[in-house]
Amino acid sequence: MTKSYLDTDALGFYGEFGGAYVPELLRPNVEALEAAFNSYCFTEAFETEYANLLRDFVGRPTPLYYAERLSKKYNAHIYLKREDLCHTGAHKVNNTVGQILLAKHMGKTDIIAETGAGQHGVATATVCALMGLNCIVYMGEKDIERQAPNVQRMKMLGAEVRAATSGSKTLKDATNEAIRHWINHPDSYYLIGSVVGPHPYPKIVAYFQSVISKETEQQLKEKTGKSYPDKVIACVGGGSNAAGAFYQFYDNKQVELVAVEAAGFGVNSGKSAATSILGTPGVLHGSLTLLMQDEDGQVTEPHSISAGLDYPGIGPLHAHTIATGRVKAIAITDEEALEAALELSKTEGIIPALESAHALSALDKMTLKPDDVIVVNLSGRGDKDMNTYMQKFQNL
Ligand SMILES: *Cc1c(COP(=O)(O)O)cnc(C)c1O
Repeated sequence: MTKSYLDTDALGFYGEFGGAYVPELLRPNVEALEAAFNSYCFTEAFETEYANLLRDFVGRPTPLYYAERLSKKYNAHIYLKREDLCHTGAHKVNNTVGQILLAKHMGKTDIIAETGAGQHGVATATVCALMGLNCIVYMGEKDIERQAPNVQRMKMLGAEVRAATSGSKTLKDATNEAIRHWINHPDSYYLIGSVVGPHPYPKIVAYFQSVISKETEQQLKEKTGKSYPDKVIACVGGGSNAAGAFYQFYDNKQVELVAVEAAGFGVNSGKSAATSILGTPGVLHGSLTLLMQDEDGQVTEPHSISAGLDYPGIGPLHAHTIATGRVKAIAITDEEALEAALELSKTEGIIPALESAHALSALDKMTLKPDDVIVVNLSGRGDKDMNTYMQKFQNL
């Protein structure tokens, strides 16, 4: 068998990136997690329960929508994979449902997570409520102030939100606190929300998000007669929606894969989150990957108008596939993303999340042929971004 882009070596490396850089104390945890994933997540019992929850709780399959007016504008066939229609408004719940079943199977009762803008915190609190498990979400103190609606959602869902008060009081500080909690309470289950963190998390999260491209294959076959598109476009924060949207197509070289990062004010502005361009190898969040750092190895504070892309690293699978040229990376500025959000709203009647608007904006940067079949992964809906849209679009 030839090697797949999705294969890791025994230590969890995709090429030169990945691995599990955890304190010795947590080594048994990541090993137990990998063993449980391998022995449980491919059984009929798991697959049935997961499929039922995806259907009845999340609302899958999500439609693959032919965007007719957008297709006319770009003179190509553009399909939107509607992850915005998932329960809780984004793709994140595909992963939290899978991991909560795994945690339950492992006999875990206490779930911990970290969150930036609160989207992963809400998706985690949601599945903990569903299963009756305890949930603690670490969140930077500054983010708690900025994201009050999501904090309230988590509380209503029964989660405890704990403030991370060190450093810049944002996501990376919340991550440090969550890892500290995990070290002090190794019996708890650490539910990571993207294809980041120590092996086997990137592999597990990519697998749970692969439902996106598995459905896409089937839906494309029905609509076009062919089960793969010419291009798939997805935004990348840590990279979970992109990994899910690309999953079935990594090893089919006829499919061009495009990862869209946040350029913020511009790649060279000093206020950006374009990790694949600005990043250098280093260890972040338990894996060796590309991250934005200064000469002393201090993580640089990223910037993006979209909270989900405002992350100083990128999952090791993406670092590897971009480095090898399999995936093409494009960076989109705050302004370009805002423009794309307004365009989709007006031409298709869909208000996208700001993250997803980055993926849409990439259409402007590409050479398209009239026969091209293009899938844009619409990772989430715009409800959570209405405050930003209200500020930016005052004169419509
Ligand atoms: C969190 C989020 C993202 C970014 O996370 P990935 O792991 O890169 O997918 C993208 N879109 C939406 C709507 C999000 O909530």
